[in-house]
Amino acid sequence: LKNWNQIPTAPPDKILGISEAYVKDSNSQKINLGVGAYRDNNGKPIIFPSVKKAEGILLEKESEKEYTGIIGNKNYQSIVRDFIFNNSNKDANGAKLIKEDRIVTAQTISGTGSLRVIAEFLNRFYDSKTIKVPKPTWANHVAVFTDAGLQPEFYNYYDVENNSLDYENLKKSIESTPNGSIVLLHACCHNPTGMDLSNEEWDEVLQIITKKNLFPLVDMAYQGFALGNPYKDIELIRKLNQLVVNDELKSYALCQSFAKNMGLYGERIGSISIVTESSEQSVAIESQLKKLIRPIYSNPPIHGSKIVETIFSNENLYNSWLNDLDQVVGRLNKVRDQLYQKLDKSNYNWDHLTKQRGMFIYTGLSKDQVIKLRNDYSIYATEDGRFSISGVNENNVDYLANAINEVIK
Ligand code: PLP
Repeated sequence: LKNWNQIPTAPPDKILGISEAYVKDSNSQKINLGVGAYRDNNGKPIIFPSVKKAEGILLEKESEKEYTGIIGNKNYQSIVRDFIFNNSNKDANGAKLIKEDRIVTAQTISGTGSLRVIAEFLNRFYDSKTIKVPKPTWANHVAVFTDAGLQPEFYNYYDVENNSLDYENLKKSIESTPNGSIVLLHACCHNPTGMDLSNEEWDEVLQIITKKNLFPLVDMAYQGFALGNPYKDIELIRKLNQLVVNDELKSYALCQSFAKNMGLYGERIGSISIVTESSEQSVAIESQLKKLIRPIYSNPPIHGSKIVETIFSNENLYNSWLNDLDQVVGRLNKVRDQLYQKLDKSNYNWDHLTKQRGMFIYTGLSKDQVIKLRNDYSIYATEDGRFSISGVNENNVDYLANAINEVIK
């Protein structure tokens, strides 16, 4: 038996550690740019009005709190599948795959839960354990995949010197990946860099992926945050569906979350979809997902899935959700633009800010500059220079811009 006195203390989570330090700071002008959760123009978290309405409906109608199925209920699964792969009849290939029963969808414990479950599934049923992730990527990716028994390795993604996508090296490192490996792709609003591939770039990369028989695992945590509309942000999914229908790709998987685009963070609501080779395969894969999940958490929570189902089953509510999302993304883009305007460009090129999308700006500031912002200005961000733009608003953008202008002098 291990002596528990020998258990070393684990380091605190980098992002949550920043929030703790922020809370302790007494400076009234302090700004928290650490956490990737939406704040309004007053720096406060919100509940989407459409979500609030859906909860009102639930409060009135809900008559039981029974368990849902191991992978959620059929209604939730089909709503999500339809939303992502058929997008209101805008994707004929996705629709075909749905009709042929070639997409298995499971409700999961938000995006993190879906990543963990798919990683466990791949560890059990996929030959290669190597998973290539972009450098840099969301810090939790490496932890999730490692803990599930996969072996994460990095592919080139970002050119830190030039604050741009490192596209040529990205292609080279995908080229040199062993055949049959798993490759993690961010669907949109790459975290942390905010820098996505263009449609043409995706086409080229997907060609390499199919040629090398890689297994694409797509992480879609920010659907809607690139262009303000969830349907405009899933070009990569459409391309993958087309490749599958054309028989150039056998299968792929997608992890999705409603944390950000419905503001349902703490409700832990998301999904996994696995695109399979046949309806027979779908039956087996679905049964194995259930077998895998049952001994971990038995079945997922129900409140979030009921909110999603309520919103999707009521056209008015659905449209008001799209509008809520558009407002959220609109504010982020506006404040990003305001910050860009106020930054001193005489010695520092800030053009990358205008190309980045989503919840973050990847400033390119050095660790020392980030620490100076924290110590001298009570501005809290992760040391890689990632700023959560949702912490910026009309009341603090001047203070932030001035502080940045001072530390880059
Ligand atoms: N993937 C990426 C890239 C993320 O940034 C996040 C959240 O920050 C997630 C997945 C998972 O989020 P959640 O588990 O809250 O849905």
